[in-house]
Amino acid sequence: MSIPCVLVLPFPAQGHIIPLMNFSKKLVEHGCKVIFVNTDFNHKLVMNSMGEQQLDDSFNGALKLVSISDGLRHDEDRTNFAKLCVTMLSTMPNMLEKLIKEICLNDNCRISCMVADVIMGWALDVGSKFGINGTLFWSSSAAMFALLYNIPKLMDDGIIDSNGLSATKKTFQLSPNMPMMDTEALVWSNVAEDSINLNKIFNYLKHCSQTTNLAKWWLCNTTYELEPQSLSFLPKLLPIGPLLNIYDENKSATISIGQFWEEDLSCMSWLDQQQHNSVVYVAFGSFTLFDQNQFKELALGLDLINRPFLWVVHDQDSKNSTTFPNEFKGYKGKIVKWAPQQKVLSHPSIACFISHCGWNSTLEGLSNGVPFLCWPYHADQFYDKTYICDELKVGLAFNKDEKGLVLSGEIKKKVDQLLSDENIRLRSMELKGKVTMNIAQEGQSSKNFNKFVEWLKE
Ligand code: UDP
Repeated sequence: MSIPCVLVLPFPAQGHIIPLMNFSKKLVEHGCKVIFVNTDFNHKLVMNSMGEQQLDDSFNGALKLVSISDGLRHDEDRTNFAKLCVTMLSTMPNMLEKLIKEICLNDNCRISCMVADVIMGWALDVGSKFGINGTLFWSSSAAMFALLYNIPKLMDDGIIDSNGLSATKKTFQLSPNMPMMDTEALVWSNVAEDSINLNKIFNYLKHCSQTTNLAKWWLCNTTYELEPQSLSFLPKLLPIGPLLNIYDENKSATISIGQFWEEDLSCMSWLDQQQHNSVVYVAFGSFTLFDQNQFKELALGLDLINRPFLWVVHDQDSKNSTTFPNEFKGYKGKIVKWAPQQKVLSHPSIACFISHCGWNSTLEGLSNGVPFLCWPYHADQFYDKTYICDELKVGLAFNKDEKGLVLSGEIKKKVDQLLSDENIRLRSMELKGKVTMNIAQEGQSSKNFNKFVEWLKE
């Protein structure tokens, strides 16, 4: 039996690369070879953040990191998603085709399967030219996959127009059992700064959603317990989550591959010195940016809570970085540029998570039984917030004032309220058990993953 070789292609964003990297490590553990394709820009970040760690020694060469251009110049702004998506779609298919030819020639390797991020779905067309089987991987919730998949139906039903928008606020359900959705919080409606860019992003997503049927497998980083309704609405979508980093202190997989920034491990010894269940962890994912007023309120709020806090502020060196207000004391806290988040959330001193509710952060918090204080910014985060607070009931959300700011007093009020709510804590712990059971040997996500690997090996 030959060793399956899988080409993995994430969307070029941190929250897409981390879960696909965790997925790739599992494939390697199960005897597969993986060629992980980043964009040149992100590949550089990933390689730099790894420092001296030796990938080859750790994975015996079974995990190979390669890269292709995203079509933008190195100095161009990659936070403009509309521009990034349009450029990728016009340039990356050719680059990928070239890469596949090179792999076949130089490495003398037959790619058994391509696993593409759903929002890189165009890659399946490229793969099919070479007769490569296609699999789609979705790093957000099953509900968000269902939403993308149903774009044509939403347009037919008049819920959204051909630009993905609705003139008036409407709530709707994709099926009678699924959670309510809101046209004002659609994943594409709040990621662009103007209607032209929004239209470009919507068209890109629409294009990708049309390729879903080219894939033999649809895999999703979720679990049945978390999203029973969405998963029974789309039975082809197999949950294989939560895809967590494998931290085995004695083994290769401890190296963090796929991070854009080096993890500041000093926070772990700081956490060791704190009391159990006392620290407020504050992190907003990889690209949430604060304006100065909001940043100030957050800093002063963290002083007000009068508890230890661990705060990730990762835009400190960038051009538009925010500055700490003069009044900020911060003496109870530790501030880092980038934390080993999964390790942090599993530390016994963590009491709650002030989070932007990106899906990875959501899953990581749930997998560790950590209650949430939700502060969504864009994309799927509003939906995740509602799901955490109203469906799963393991968190509270911050309210904004009339200027749209979360004030320092609101931060203190909600931290106190959350930490005195025993029911939320118990529900979080109960959910932790259910979610993580999935990745035990006989767990449902493990079974789904194994089924996929067996198919790869056939
Ligand atoms: N993350 C991390 N260290 C940090 C902050 C975030 O490792 O200091 C990781 C986090 O564990 C998660 C990912 O970055 O896996 C962020 O993904 P998410 O979907 O939560 O947010 P996004 O960055 O896509 O907005």
